[in-house]
Formats: sequence, structure tokens, C-alpha cells
Amino acid sequence: MLTDTMKKHNYSAGPCILPQEVFEKSAAAILDFNNSGLSILEISHRSKDFVAVMDEARALVLELLGLTGKGYQALFLHGGASLEFLMVPYNLMKENGKAAYLDTGTWASGAIKEAKNFGETVVVASSKTENYNHIPKNFEVPADADYLHCTSNNTIFGTQMQSFPEIDIPLVCDMSSDIFSRVLDFSKFDLIYAGAQKNMGPAGATLVLIKEDILGKTGRNIPSMLDYQKHIAAESMYNTPPVFAVYASLLTLQWLKAQGGIAAIEKINNAKAELLYNEIDRNPYFRGTANKGDRSHMNATFLLEDETQAPIFDAMWKEAGISGIPGHRSVGGYRASMYNALPLESVQVLVDVMRSFERKMTGGL
Ligand SMILES: *Cc1c(COP(=O)(O)O)cnc(C)c1O
Repeated sequence: MLTDTMKKHNYSAGPCILPQEVFEKSAAAILDFNNSGLSILEISHRSKDFVAVMDEARALVLELLGLTGKGYQALFLHGGASLEFLMVPYNLMKENGKAAYLDTGTWASGAIKEAKNFGETVVVASSKTENYNHIPKNFEVPADADYLHCTSNNTIFGTQMQSFPEIDIPLVCDMSSDIFSRVLDFSKFDLIYAGAQKNMGPAGATLVLIKEDILGKTGRNIPSMLDYQKHIAAESMYNTPPVFAVYASLLTLQWLKAQGGIAAIEKINNAKAELLYNEIDRNPYFRGTANKGDRSHMNATFLLEDETQAPIFDAMWKEAGISGIPGHRSVGGYRASMYNALPLESVQVLVDVMRSFERKMTGGL
């Protein structure tokens, strides 16, 4: 077992930090699940105990998001958010129809690339020429599009949508890296998807929330494994689901509920983001890369003013037990991912390192 001083301050963008009690309970379930004498890794997904896990996970997702009884289905699928890039148009874009996309980063453009396989794909706005440092606003959405797709949090570029377009067509959102992190009116979205490994659980499961009445309208013949209606009919067990990833996700959702749900975790997330961004803005040796009004509370991206000082700063944060902070290659510098399970204390450690670095560079002690 790790002691507190051995545990790293894990800023990884994904797979990411999860609550310590999730690691401990998952480890225990690998040895003996529910006192069954069996490991969670060896039980049938059709066993009563696992069906109960799946049912509770699906119900708890809806409860935490305030979507219970509102016509939504929660599914735990395979294939990551990347498979949803194509499942969404397959299930929602009509034959000879069109879809609208907001291009706010690498993942959004990945979704656009897949949609083009299915029909006319209109990019309503893009911040690509500014290296995705902001969220485009005031764009027109074609009223005859089958849906609008957006990405609520841009994991790589450190931007986050603060508001969502008011439209009369279905709204689809990739929430991989900020689902369960802040209160939104989730009923404004008709389809939400998220790879588990950013803020919900280990890699291997993908959460999809669908307002059921938007399905079945395309006229397309959809292969079974890519058909949301087939997965709904099978209660998210059309084939063997990612048993362990669903179980660990359930543990994280239970942890979140015990913290007081999304509203409670949002307060802590806001405090973490404020602490770090205040330091980035105050400290003359650093600067943020994203426009201030669009900054992400999940992934803070920042650079050293003088990149030749990187070896000194890097040695300091490593010494402080920080892990996973180098930036994505398309932005460079640093990216501090502050998902739900990252404690405020870990952010304080990073801020303290930034302050020590400043003192060192200015010749103090
Ligand atoms: C990580 C990420 C993805 C890709 O997720 P996979 O599960 O690896 O396919 C897609 N969208 C966003 C916003 C992400 O952060």
C-alpha cells in the first residue's frame, strides 16, 4: 500500500487520477468481489452481481446529471470517445442529410473527419488558425442540419465552453474531459459521450447518454455493434461489456455522490482552477496559452516565458512528487489536468513549486 508521501501528485490528462478509495476498492474486488469467492475479472457479465453493477452505474449516471425520468438512456460501450466520432453520424445523420460541427481542437476535428464519411459536414466555426486558443462565438447553425456537434472541454488546448448554443436541432456534445465536473443543464443536450478515462474511471468504457426520441430517423442500415438502439434494447449488454471498467466507474460515481454530487465537486474544481490560474497570471516566469474567458477548469495549459529554463523547472516539479504535467506536443510547455479526484493540496504543491522557481530565477533562495 502507498503511504501519502509515496503517492504522486498526478496531473495526467488521461488516463487520469481517480479517488484513492476507488483504487483500494477495485483492488479488493479483483481479489474477491462481493464476498463471492470470485474475482471481478472472472465473473460472468450475466451474473446477478454484475447485472446489478451495470444497472446501478447506468442509473447513477442519470441521477448525478439530473436526467432521471427525462427520456434518456445511459450506455457503457467500448471503443472510446473516438468510436463515438463515427457512431454519432451513423445514428443521427440522415441519408443525404447534413451535420454541423464546431471545431475547437484536435478532438473536434477528429469527429469532423469521421462525419465526412457519412455526408455533408458543415464546420460552423473554427479557431484552428489561432492554434485553438479560444472558443469561437456568434456562429450560425444551419437550421436544416441533423444535429450540431460540439466539444465542451478541449483537453489538449485548455479551453472550455462556458455556454452552449440555443438551437432547435439536436445538440451533441463530446464531454470526455469535463463530464461530472460542473453543473450544467444536461437536458439541453440530446446526446453526450465521454471516454471514461478522463474523469470517470479507467480506460476501456465509454459513457453515452442519449435522448431516445432522436434515434431511428436516418433511414440508414446500421451495423449492430454501432447501433445505439441495439445497445439500448440490450440494456448496455449487447456483447460482453468492459466489466472491470464499468465497475471502477461505478465506484467513482458513488464517491462523487458521497462528496455531494456535481455541485459540491464543482466548488472544489473552481478553487483549484483559481489557485493555479492566479499563479500563472501573477508569476512573471509563466504565461497561459488559452484566452482568459475560455480557460478550462480541467486542463490548464501554460508556458515558461523563457523555455531554456525548462530543465530547472522540470527538476523542481519532479522533486516535489508531481507527475504527468508536460504539455501535449501540439501546444508545448505544461498542462496541469485537474480532474475531480485531484486534491486541492496537489495544486498547492504545484503553485509552491512555481513560486520557488520564481525565487530561484530572481536570485533569491
Ligand atoms: C481523450 C479525448 C478523446 C479520445 O478519447 P478515446 O477514449 O481515447 O477515444 C475524445 N475527445 C476528447 C475531448 C478527449 O479528451
